[in-house]
Amino acid sequence: MAWRCTGATNAELIGNMAKAGIINSERVAAAMAKVDRANYVRFPNTAYEDSPQPIGHGATISAPHMHAHAAEHLLSFLKPGSRVLDVGSGSGYLCAVLYQLLQDPSDPKSSESKVVGIDHIPELTEWSIENLRKDGLGPALDEGRIKVISGDGRKGVPEDGPYDAIHVGAAAPTMPKDLIEQLARPGRMFIPVGTHSQQIVQVDKDVDGNVTEKPLFDVMYVPLTDRDKQK
Ligand code: SAH
Repeated sequence: MAWRCTGATNAELIGNMAKAGIINSERVAAAMAKVDRANYVRFPNTAYEDSPQPIGHGATISAPHMHAHAAEHLLSFLKPGSRVLDVGSGSGYLCAVLYQLLQDPSDPKSSESKVVGIDHIPELTEWSIENLRKDGLGPALDEGRIKVISGDGRKGVPEDGPYDAIHVGAAAPTMPKDLIEQLARPGRMFIPVGTHSQQIVQVDKDVDGNVTEKPLFDVMYVPLTDRDKQK
């Protein structure tokens, strides 16, 4: 699937993902159009290629079509006022898209929205904050509507939960129980699970706290692991 949606510009990349049926909603297209991927990569001349790109420290910014899939699957849980956790936030790109999905100028609840990103490489969290500022999100950071911290994302960030939506950007060997606990009722998590073979699993918690897991499709992500094991 990689390369398929590559464009010469951010707008063309998004248009190609819509044509390919990867982006199905106007809301996801509009949110991704507000976030310039060139602000979140090390090599801006290939920013609009539909492929992952190394960002240093053994990490990659995921391919645009994976970010689009994540946004589409979490969409019904992303509203003004929602709280969202992005585990393994890396470049900060998806934090920005998720933030845009929680903003609606006509809805006063927008200012209560919160996106929390966590990555265990402090150099990446610092860089992601610079990227978010370059992309015009300085005020959202300063006012606490976006927060990016360094730490072990497998434990989540309980102090800002529960979360309407959780995105995990690295493959967990087994389902992290702390993250399920931090899902709101209702809430949804989009998480790659597995080691050699990995699948995206959609975890839904209903209003009564019942949890169901649905495998979606096969993927290849960097592992959700210990900091000293990441190369
Ligand atoms: N979604 C991001 C990054 C994907 S790469 C983007 O597209 O830019 C996966 C990220 O998960 C890396 O940045 C890596 O440092 C981070 N990571 C891996 N294990 C982690 C852990 N236990 N806690 C927090 N972050 C972790």
